[in-house]
Amino acid sequence: ATMPPLLSTIANAGRHGVLVKSAVALEKFGVVDVVAFDKTGTLTEGTPRVAEIEPVRSAGMSTERLLALAAAAERPSEHPLARAVVAAAHEHDVPVPHTEDFSSTPGRGVTALVDGVRVRVGSPALLADLPGASADQLAEARLSVTLLEEAGRTAVVVVADGAPVGVLALADRVRPGAREAVARLAAMTGRSPLLLTGDNERAARRLAEEVGIVDVRAGLLPDEKVAEVRALQEQGHRVLLVGDGVNDAPAMAAAELGVAMGRHGSDLALETADAVIVRDDLSTLPKVVGLSRRAHRVVK
Ligand code: ADP
Ligand code: MG
Repeated sequence: ATMPPLLSTIANAGRHGVLVKSAVALEKFGVVDVVAFDKTGTLTEGTPRVAEIEPVRSAGMSTERLLALAAAAERPSEHPLARAVVAAAHEHDVPVPHTEDFSSTPGRGVTALVDGVRVRVGSPALLADLPGASADQLAEARLSVTLLEEAGRTAVVVVADGAPVGVLALADRVRPGAREAVARLAAMTGRSPLLLTGDNERAARRLAEEVGIVDVRAGLLPDEKVAEVRALQEQGHRVLLVGDGVNDAPAMAAAELGVAMGRHGSDLALETADAVIVRDDLSTLPKVVGLSRRAHRVVK
């Protein structure tokens, strides 16, 4: 006996490395007309590395101490940048002190008490919120951030007791199939895909250029990613959002179709997504859109 067309199409998508969770989800693949990608962990591999460590000289903290404090504060976080910072401490044989009183703000960063020091690690936006810091230290930290971002890095700042003490530069690689997926999805939907990211504008534009995306919305907090999706929907679009579930699970839920990256995706994302890409290759995505469209022509 032959399988009903929708079921056989779901099985076929599975062979391409995309787990589609329901017939309804499969149908949505065929009708979306805008595709939006998250950056870190989605268009990139999501295993960034700390490429440079720049202490703020006038703060007088050693590179080792800077890395130790940052790694301790990041240890409880599941963010890909946090894992990279902890890995860097291990690579440099820097012992990581005990972490107390940890908390994280999605799209911003983390804070914790380390050896009695209040440590904050996160986006350069942190620098705008340090009223007690010296002007010299702030200027130095800002200059490091600008230079690193111009080089296409993601800059993360480290703050100790309200003073900027260093900047870490993180580098990530483009995921296989990203460029091909962007081009094919643009041709299929008639609209070039978007990039929605919490990362800085400069790093976002660099990456976008590499994969062929023109429409870049950077510096977005998780709620602002949701607002971008809703704005597109209000214009009558049906949005497919691809994310890794770290800081983008709410946007994934708001989209018609939420697709999660399976390898590095958070558990929450894997549960709430309509489909999961289980291979590290994004070129599977347009294939499933094509399968869905053909299945519907068969059924109708
Ligand atoms: P993306 O949209 O590219 O996946 P996120 O929304 O996850 O990025 O994060 C946005 C920005 O917030 C990061 O580029 C970084 O500056 C900052 N950030 C978030 N979480 C952390 C963390 N645990 N450690 C350091 N920086 C963080
Ligand atoms: Mg992400």
